[in-house]
Order: sequence, then C-alpha cells, then structure tokens
Amino acid sequence: MTDLVLANLIGGELVAPIQSRYLDVYEPAAGRVYARCPDSDAADVAAAVSAAQAAAAAWAATPAAERARLMNRLADRIEARLDDYVHAESRDSGKPAALARAVDIPRAVANLRFFAAAITQWSSEAHAMEDRAINYTLRQPLGVVGCISPWNLPLYLFTWKIAPALATGNAVVAKPSEVTPVTAWMLAEDSVAAGFPPGVLNIVQGGAAAGQAIVDAPGVKAISFTGSTRVGAGIAARAAATFKKTSLELGGKNASVVFADFDASDDNLDTLVRSAFSNQGQICLCGSRILVERAIYDEFRDRFVARANALVVGDPLDEKTNLGAVVSKAHHDKIMGCIALAREEGGNVLAGGDAVAVPGRCADGWFVAPTVIDGLGPACRTNQEEIFGPVVTLQPFDGDDEAIALANATGYGLAASVWTRDLIRAHTVAARLEAGIVWVNCWMLRDLRTPFGGVKNSGVGREGGVEALRFFTDAKNVCVQL
Ligand code: NAD
Repeated sequence: MTDLVLANLIGGELVAPIQSRYLDVYEPAAGRVYARCPDSDAADVAAAVSAAQAAAAAWAATPAAERARLMNRLADRIEARLDDYVHAESRDSGKPAALARAVDIPRAVANLRFFAAAITQWSSEAHAMEDRAINYTLRQPLGVVGCISPWNLPLYLFTWKIAPALATGNAVVAKPSEVTPVTAWMLAEDSVAAGFPPGVLNIVQGGAAAGQAIVDAPGVKAISFTGSTRVGAGIAARAAATFKKTSLELGGKNASVVFADFDASDDNLDTLVRSAFSNQGQICLCGSRILVERAIYDEFRDRFVARANALVVGDPLDEKTNLGAVVSKAHHDKIMGCIALAREEGGNVLAGGDAVAVPGRCADGWFVAPTVIDGLGPACRTNQEEIFGPVVTLQPFDGDDEAIALANATGYGLAASVWTRDLIRAHTVAARLEAGIVWVNCWMLRDLRTPFGGVKNSGVGREGGVEALRFFTDAKNVCVQL
C-alpha cells in the first residue's frame, strides 16, 4: 500500500505535477513501495523557473541579514522535527537511522546556518591604483540557479547547494534524487512555514527528464550538480550550449594510503573501517581502495577483515545496525555484479561477498555484507570503476613512490586519506596525490569553510565556504577614476 504522495514546491505552493504522473518510491530495507513522487517534466520545470524569475529581483534586493534570518528559521524547523527527518531519511535511503541522526540531518541544519552566517560576513575586493583610481568588485547574484543532487546523502547534499544559492540572493529551482525524495519534500513544507517569499525556493521532484529540463532552461544561469560522472558529463555538454556556469561534483575511487609507521590504534582502524563502509560504502568520499605498506600488510589485513566481519548488517531503524540496506534493487544487483566480476578477475574475497538476508520486516530488503577483496592489481575493473557499495580492495605497496602511483592510478580524483606518523611524508604525499581533498590520519573531518571538490573524472569546480559564494555570484568590476 502506498501511503505517501509527494508534491512539488512551485511559487510557494505545494502542487501536483502538471501531467499527474508519479514515480514509485521504495523503502530499500523493506523492498517495497511506500511513497509516490512527482515525475515532473519540462512543463513543471518551466513553471518553477517562471516562479523563480518573478521572485529573483526582490530576493536579490532583500538584505543579507533578512535572507540569513529566513535560512536560520528553516534550520530551526528542521531541528524541531529532527526525529521525523531522521526517520524519513533512514526509511527513504536504507541508511542507519543512527547515521542520519549523527550526520545527515545535523549537517543539513549546519549547511543552512553556515551559509546564513557566511553571507553576513562576506566582503568583496577593492584594488586601488596609483593613478588616482579605485576598482571594487561587486558580487551579484546570478538570478535563477539550478541545483541537482543525488540519493546517497539526500538532505545533506540538497541543502549544501540550496543554502549558498539562497544566501547569495539567487532564486532556486532544485531537484532531489527521485530515489530519495522525501526529506526534500519535507524541506519544501518547512520552507513555506519558515516564511520564504513565494518562488524564492522551488523544488521540482522527478528523474532525468526534470533534471534535463532544468539544465536546458534558458532562464537558469548556473547548475550545481552532484551525482555520477556519466550524468555530469552530459550536463557539462548541454549546459555549454547556453553558457551556464557549472559546478560538477562527481564519482570517486578514493585511496586510503596506510604506511607502515602509522599509529595502528583501534581508533584509527575503526576510522578506516568507517571510511570503507559508512552508509554502506555509498559516500563519494569512501576509501574503496586501501593501499597498505607491505611490511604491515598481513597484520593490517587480518585486523581490518576481523572488524569488517564484526559489523552488524540489519534493519536501519535498529540503533545497533552498522550497515543498513543499499539504496535500490538495481544498485544491489550492480554491487553483486561487481563482486562477481572481482572473483572473475582473480580476487580473493576475504570478508563478505554475499547478499545478507535480514529477517522480519526487512525480509525483502536489499542488503550486502561488508566485503573485502585482495589479490587484484591496479588496472583491473574492480580497482578502476566506482562500485559505490560496501566493497573495498586491499593492495600492498613498497615505498612512497609506489603508494602514490597506485593511489593516482584511476581516472578519478576526488579524495584520499594518508596514514603515517612521519610529518614530512604526510605533506609530500598529500601534495603529490591527484585528489581535491586529502585527509591525513583522519577521514571525513569537514570544515565547511574549506574548498570541496574533485579533479580528473571526479568533477570540475569547488563547493564550500567562499568557493560556493563565488560560484553563485557574478563578479563585476567597477573602476572609478578619482
Ligand atoms: P546520478 O548521476 O544518477 O543522479 C544524480 C541526480 O541527477 C539525480 O537527481 C538524477 O535524477 C539527476 N539526473 C539524472 N539524469 C540526469 C540528466 N540527464 N540531466 C540532469 N539531471 C539528471 O547519480 P546518483 O546515482 O543519484 O548518485 C550516485 C553518484 O553520485 C555516485 O557516482 C557518487 O560518487 C556521486 N556523488 C558524488 C559526490 C561528490 O561530492 N563528488 C557526492 C555524492 C555522490
């Protein structure tokens, strides 16, 4: 039975899609449809863009402090319904409720509060010239911008885009993933209650057709996209036709580089396990290729495998669960196909390797055991292609140069972690890694002021802090001769 029917937010109203078409939304832990989300098309997007255009000038002229006040009110409303948001995020995506409570929903709140504060503190540059002239830079909102986000961190990444876009005075047309649409719909309701003027934030639900219509809309001046490399490449090509600015945060195949001198404490092992399997490995930042210096390889492997085997795969709503369900049947089947491929390629499956049956209400859900594989070289597909599931490989290396060569031996370049007690090695290796983000002796420690993004096939552009404020504004230089 379907109990929940979602709506679009257009011009301040929650409305049904114009063609009355809907997509099924599955609860991955139960393997059944539990909601329907609008399958919006170009007509819905056109309505959202015109609502945004009608609101854009007044929003741009609204004082930053007032924009910030409304964003903080929205954050207040999320906090007031924290349990509802946590439950919805867990049910929609299959992630453990404990993770949504610790990370996803607090981070969505933090995104709104961070950019609300940032915009009241932001200043632009001035350049005085010796011949009695001064230049100053105006940072002006773009008008209407599009934000498109994926399913793995639904509200977390949705707000990560919307917050800087709104803070800088843009009107927004945003689309969450059709796979995990529920918390964006809740946010739509809460944005109305928070008092945003109609049309400032529009949320169009749907799949590729809706996303493509946002990318193609002439009235949309920039696209902030997070998702797969394949879809990102298509967006880059289409957006070029209308000279839209793009920020593309794409896939990864991140290396965790563990040197023999690293502090092999239980805490660090736990962090490395978390970096492999958090959110069932469905975080773009997860370390899916673990490179270990040969001198400690056997010992590290045994400790890592023991920890992976000890993780509890189960009902995401159970607080004891470490790994919930993967997001969909299609994704489950893709991950199982990747494990079969790793076996064909000659990999040794040291832990996991199978689907997991979770009894009771989750009997039809999509669960995969945390899987550790070794015995594979860097060039095989298992070590080249993004799996985006609870599957990691271990590879031994000898010395810094081989570590760096292995870490850089993929088409991706999003993130890496380096584990060593040697300060000089930490800095030199970090500098040589082809990645947009490097963590040393930690993982996913995030300061929202820092630049966030990837190189190579992991994307173009940076989010976070002033990078995001710059992305969502145009710089205009004004030169005044005195
Ligand atoms: P996806 O590319 O399939 O979809 C992402 C979003 O794009 C969804 O909202 C989808 O509906 C929309 N979309 C699909 N086709 C489109 C089109 N032709 N035009 C416009 N929009 C379209 O990605 P996904 O499966 O939802 O997410 C998983 C991927 O996201 C992984 O590759 C992961 O690495 C990546 N990711 C990257 C980051 C990062 O910060 N770099 C963060 C999270 C996830």
